[in-house]
Amino acid sequence: MTTAPPAPAELRARAAQLDSDDPLAPLRARFLLPPDVVYLDGNSLGPLPAAVPAALDDVVRRQWGTGLIGSWNDNGWWEAPLRIGDTIGALIGAAPGQTVAGDSTSVQLFTALDAAAELRPDRPLLVTDPGHFPTDRYLADAVAGCRDLEVRRVPPADLPRFLAAEGHRVAVVSYSPVDFRTGELYDMRALTAAVHEAGALALWDLCHAAGALPLDVDAIGVDLAVGCGYKFLSGGPGAPAFLYVAQRHHPALRTPLPGWTGHADPFALAPGYAPAPGIARARIGTPPILSLLALEAALTAFDGVDLADVRAKSLSLTGFFLTCAETLLTPLGFTPVTPADPARRASQVTLRHPHARGLVAALAAQGVLADMRAPDLLRFGVNALFTTHQDLLTAAQHLHTLTRDAAYDPAPPATGPVT
Ligand SMILES: *Cc1c(COP(=O)(O)O)cnc(C)c1O
Repeated sequence: MTTAPPAPAELRARAAQLDSDDPLAPLRARFLLPPDVVYLDGNSLGPLPAAVPAALDDVVRRQWGTGLIGSWNDNGWWEAPLRIGDTIGALIGAAPGQTVAGDSTSVQLFTALDAAAELRPDRPLLVTDPGHFPTDRYLADAVAGCRDLEVRRVPPADLPRFLAAEGHRVAVVSYSPVDFRTGELYDMRALTAAVHEAGALALWDLCHAAGALPLDVDAIGVDLAVGCGYKFLSGGPGAPAFLYVAQRHHPALRTPLPGWTGHADPFALAPGYAPAPGIARARIGTPPILSLLALEAALTAFDGVDLADVRAKSLSLTGFFLTCAETLLTPLGFTPVTPADPARRASQVTLRHPHARGLVAALAAQGVLADMRAPDLLRFGVNALFTTHQDLLTAAQHLHTLTRDAAYDPAPPATGPVT
């Protein structure tokens, strides 16, 4: 028989206090979270925002069902990629007219890497992080293959040293500000400055950062950025991604997929391609309106929200979970791998334990949804728009009890996709 661990009263009291003092607490009502579930996977698939079902119903029944083809004009479908791009732009520190929403992160990465290489034609090196998300690594290889470039894999910590030696040969450096395994946060500003010092371009993948913390792509001089719509932006499974290109690059920007919707005059049906002015030239084909408008509705969860407050609460949440882990989990063989230094911590906590897979499965059976990265990392994503300190204490307590009582399968079969 398992008994609840004697919840350290101190942690319980602190969770209650922090949650009752939380100015963002009312935002949780902007999400339709199932009761009895502690959802710590919002960094992988954001939960359903309350505004989405009615918006989708309107898009399907009224705009499509009744408005039919007229909705391209009457309901703003044609402009949706740029309009929603600007809404995302506001969350990443981009002035309007530099961000387009659509396609997947993978497609946008190919576009961004190839366009960056085109902007620095005399430089043969493409630098990426050996620990980068797989699709980022594969697409760097693919673009290098198409353009006869060489990929160098340089961890962010080694970049300044690498650039000092070979920076003059680098076209583009492609990194994420967040290590998706450990939750470590890198210094985007300093790394971007180092890249520019070498005359190269900085491409940032913001999948684990957009909506999770304040970003300042314009102010720090980022050249290009991509990110997905379904993690902290909660736009739904497979939500459209986004591409940001700094305005100063627009005149020379050439994209590898010059589709008709990025044409200067798409309805002229001209024989040859002529790019539209501005970021509109990064459009490719007919946009996925249902997904785009679901994402647009999801983004209203950020209305009136200051991302500095989101960051402050996120750090409070991750800091509290690290404290819970210290009390309840490290004595049982868990090791935190997320940096304790708040300046180096994004919006997740990762713990190492050899039975990560079995523990995450057992946690799910208790209604605590987290995820794992093989072989031994348990990931707990927090989203300040809906996560509570009590959620994290509940997760730590369940994990404590399951581990103490060995109430899990230490080697379960690998199941389904873990994204
Ligand atoms: C989630 C994620 C992706 C996902 O790419 P998709 O094309 O949406 O599958 C890419 N890169 C990073 C860094 C991610 O975190």
